[in-house]
Amino acid sequence: MIILTVEKTKKWMNEIQKRMEANKEQLTVLDQAIGDGDHGINMERGFREVLAKISDTEYESVADVLKSVAMTLTAKVGGASGPLYGTAFLKMSMAMQGKEVDEIVFKTAVREAAEGIKMRGKAGMGEKTLYDVWNQVANFLAEEPAEDWDALLEVCQATIEDTREMTATKGRASYLKERSKGHVDPGSMSSFYIFEALMTVMET
Ligand code: ADP
Ligand code: MG
Ligand code: MG
Repeated sequence: MIILTVEKTKKWMNEIQKRMEANKEQLTVLDQAIGDGDHGINMERGFREVLAKISDTEYESVADVLKSVAMTLTAKVGGASGPLYGTAFLKMSMAMQGKEVDEIVFKTAVREAAEGIKMRGKAGMGEKTLYDVWNQVANFLAEEPAEDWDALLEVCQATIEDTREMTATKGRASYLKERSKGHVDPGSMSSFYIFEALMTVMET
């Protein structure tokens, strides 16, 4: 069964943009605690640019939409998160190239995205980054049917909470060393919104 179309992918981006706009302040506050306080600004700007780019472009395939998303995020978002999310969407696009997106293709694409983040950020599990969420989502999808969105979002939420007690060893938060403990990672929160947005699209 095809689970992602061009139309749905555009709607996914629209849903992400709404969440980044609505939660800009929250992401900024999280980044103020352990980073430089621009994560909300970066995400809101990035997905606003993504929508501007994709809404008046015709696409042949889901892979083409995601390639456009990747290029826009990489080009328009400063900071660590732009190139990292850019890599995630580019890897998804590559995994979907020439294919219709059924459940298996989708799951493979999410795994590839997680691996891309890992490679680009040189991040592993437990380093208090958005990789933690992407890896756990990919692990979940390897075991469970993609329809169980509530369970998937619970995995995201539990992982965000897990980052609270981690000591950051990557990105700006790592400058704080032990003092990064006690705060959740901003990137894990923005990743949650990406998957929450996807859920609303998959359920329609
Ligand atoms: P910057 O830290 O450059 O200001 P953002 O604030 O937009 O960029 O994004 C910060 C988020 O990026 C962090 O919360 C973390 O999740 C993620 N991040 C930073 N460095 C890495 C890395 N090396 N690998 C994976 N994720 C990272
Ligand atoms: Mg920042
Ligand atoms: Mg910054």
